[in-house]
Amino acid sequence: NTGTGLLDDRFAAAGRPLAAVTGAEIQAPLIQGGHVRYANLDYGASAPALSVVSAYLNEILPFYASVHRGAGYASQISTSVYENARNIVRDFVGGRPDDSVIFTRNTTDSLNLLAGCLPVVDHNHTGEVLYLDIEHHANLLPWQGVPHRSVVASGTLEATIDSLRAELEHGDVSLLAVTGASNVTGEILPIRRLAALAHEFGARIVVDAAQLAPHRRVDIAADDVDYLAFSGHKLYAPFGSGVLVGRADWLDAGTPHLAGGGAVSEARLDGVSWTTGPARHEGGSPNVLGAATLARATQVIAALDQEQWHRHEAAIRSFLVEGLQKIDGVTVHQIFSDTDPDTDTIGVVNFSVEGYDAGLVAAYLSAEHGVGLRDGRFCAHPLLKRLGLPSGSLRASFGLGSRLEDAQRLLAGIEELRRSGL
Ligand code: PLP
Repeated sequence: NTGTGLLDDRFAAAGRPLAAVTGAEIQAPLIQGGHVRYANLDYGASAPALSVVSAYLNEILPFYASVHRGAGYASQISTSVYENARNIVRDFVGGRPDDSVIFTRNTTDSLNLLAGCLPVVDHNHTGEVLYLDIEHHANLLPWQGVPHRSVVASGTLEATIDSLRAELEHGDVSLLAVTGASNVTGEILPIRRLAALAHEFGARIVVDAAQLAPHRRVDIAADDVDYLAFSGHKLYAPFGSGVLVGRADWLDAGTPHLAGGGAVSEARLDGVSWTTGPARHEGGSPNVLGAATLARATQVIAALDQEQWHRHEAAIRSFLVEGLQKIDGVTVHQIFSDTDPDTDTIGVVNFSVEGYDAGLVAAYLSAEHGVGLRDGRFCAHPLLKRLGLPSGSLRASFGLGSRLEDAQRLLAGIEELRRSGL
């Protein structure tokens, strides 16, 4: 029951959380928001763990032991769980058989790892990293330590792709670093086209899929993407794990991300022979439970009915956008003027309320309506500045546990705030 009785078929499916419909149940939120159900509109920051994922965590917990080095039973089980997790993640992203699957702490860690490899693989230091100005800091700041240049993503998507082409034609780009979907506005970038463009000029592409992977299936072999990074905690797994998947040659040549036990084939007091493969970058005892639960979450996501999944998120998104646009003084923000809000976006909506500080609106919605959303600059300072929002805006983001009712609560809260004249 959506509560209004006025909703057309398009929205009917979004009345219940998709998780409940598909059996991929979301854990009950820890915060219940007083007497009302907590309306979590902050999936873009972190998504609540799936029940099957935490059940799996409890299942493997008794066998938790150090991997790779122990001969004992628990160690062997943990090793096989950990190594199997790589294969599950590879399958999830459509990885090539010879791609490396490296477990990291999160997307930020994955992109820093790749950045650390660049000076070694690019011996002449001539190749630059090219990126758009819409990137999350995780896909901006790691490149500050290597030659880089950026392109402004404005006007239409087509105009932006033309600008990227012009930069690539200019020469000497070794890597195009691009987000799969904006964490600020939810707009999706055409990664297959961008991969083809990068390759046309001899560059590689890395896709920051922190936001894309929890909303769309990715197939890096089919899309010809060289590297892909994402985080477990945005993909319905617990905190603490992420991955970098991609072509092994650069990763096997690059400086080890974490020098230490496991990363070497031979250590001497006067030198070291680093190993190759994922272990080269995973020095020290790895986060076995993090990798295993991340992999388990990908299996649940992979089993979702794609159509139903997208319809659910698109219905809530368009309901929210249409509702916001009807409220006086509310502006919905997007990057490209030619984005189709129904098809080219994930479940993220960015907006501001004229005359109200974003932080104040967010605090009001939380305190008075039990709605949790995010305000601020979303770790994308250059984009917020260019959008004319130097002091930030509001972001509602949703996923498998979201219901239409959550969007209704948000809309009602903003209407009430405006009426109150606060
Ligand atoms: N990239 C994008 C697009 C993001 O939205 C985020 C997190 O919000 C990150 C990277 C960084 O993810 P993490 O904090 O898990 O490293």
